[in-house]
Amino acid sequence: MAHPYLTEDHDIFRKSLRKFLEKEAYPFYEKWEEDRMIPRSFWKKMGEQGYLCPDIDEEYGGSGVDWGFSVVINEELERVGSSLIGIGLHNDIVVPYINSYGTEEQKQKWLPKCASGELITAIAMTEPGTGSDLSNIQTTAKLEGDYYLLNGQKTFITNGIAADLVVVACKTDLHAVPRHKGISLLVVERDTPGFSRGRKLHKVGLHAQDTAELIFEDCKVPKGNLLGVEGKGFRYLMEKLQQERLIVAIAAQIASEEMLRITMDYVKSRDVFGKPVSSFQNTQFKMVEMATDIEMGRTFLDQLIADHLQGENIVTKVSMAKWKLTDTARRIATECMQLHGGYGYMEEYEIARRYRDIPVASIYAGTNEIMKTIIAKNLGL
Ligand SMILES: Cc1cc2nc3c(=O)[nH]c(=O)nc-3n(C[C@H](O)[C@H](O)[C@H](O)COP(=O)(O)OP(=O)(O)OC[C@H]3O[C@@H](n4cnc5c(N)ncnc54)[C@H](O)[C@@H]3O)c2cc1C
Repeated sequence: MAHPYLTEDHDIFRKSLRKFLEKEAYPFYEKWEEDRMIPRSFWKKMGEQGYLCPDIDEEYGGSGVDWGFSVVINEELERVGSSLIGIGLHNDIVVPYINSYGTEEQKQKWLPKCASGELITAIAMTEPGTGSDLSNIQTTAKLEGDYYLLNGQKTFITNGIAADLVVVACKTDLHAVPRHKGISLLVVERDTPGFSRGRKLHKVGLHAQDTAELIFEDCKVPKGNLLGVEGKGFRYLMEKLQQERLIVAIAAQIASEEMLRITMDYVKSRDVFGKPVSSFQNTQFKMVEMATDIEMGRTFLDQLIADHLQGENIVTKVSMAKWKLTDTARRIATECMQLHGGYGYMEEYEIARRYRDIPVASIYAGTNEIMKTIIAKNLGL
């Protein structure tokens, strides 16, 4: 499917990335799912080839290219499997905080290693007691001399075990009115005293994606690790969440396209009552309905990506894309599994994995219900 915002350079880049993934990712993906982890060596290889953070400036280790290249990376990683979303999170969600709000010193210190794969990053907003209501976080950071003393717990953190740098949302002012004005972002480094990992969480899907609890007990974070200005953390999060939602929408669209592709192959090759499953009118109508949803989703998404590349405000439309495309993907997973018959329920068939992986896309990066509250507000309701 054509992407109007992509040029020949992006196509060449996609071809070489595909070749790289055919050699370095596809053959190992099942093993990574069994191991419940993407090996660090893969991150390093991605970095060596320039597939990590290509949009950051060359002086910080990136390639200084437009975000269209990141779209290509996210699409191709999703084609391999949804568990690679932790790499997109690093490239397009966490590193942009450092790139946009970091001081020159912070950027020099961390960005080159983020681009080479030496440093893996995570973002820690969610806590056991609060997810959707971000302004209600209980993790606190109290400035004492040259350090913040950070206390609290985070959960469901992508790259939680592997992360060398964690951007932590915390309260630096407990009395701020409104509450969100008391939120700041601190960068916590791997060996900071008082920082430990909790459980590595067992999930329904995304088995190779590392998701964990993080614990901060009188964790001594240097004052110099504050990102941007104290009290502006919530604003920074709101700004960057748009790109996060766009990435989830892109991944859902690709997952839908992949599920339709593998199901198309399956229904054409499986004979029942002496003819291919694809010859039944029910199958054809289901396939047509899914193909139509996918085409319409692609058109909306492409326009949205183009708008984002132009720097336009996409808050309402990205919220629409996030809920609609993840919802569609979930429905497509169910239909495609059904068309595979019993084989769809077997682990060796890709549709089974896709079926397990897709529901979380309606939950993370802001639940689909939260997306609808944003849209409702912006519609003036
Ligand atoms: C695999 C995975 C990876 C994740 N990665 C990260 C990560 O890297 N970093 C991070 O910080 N977080 C991460 N999360 C957390 C994720 O963002 C939260 O789970 C999500 O925001 C929802 O929060 P919650 O789980 O506390 O649900 P809750 O907020 O408790 O919501 C429960 C239900 O209530 C609904 N609800 C809540 N408020 C409203 C409302 N106003 N109107 C209508 N319905 C409402 C929700 O939609 C949901 O259905 C991850 C989660 C998962 C599962």
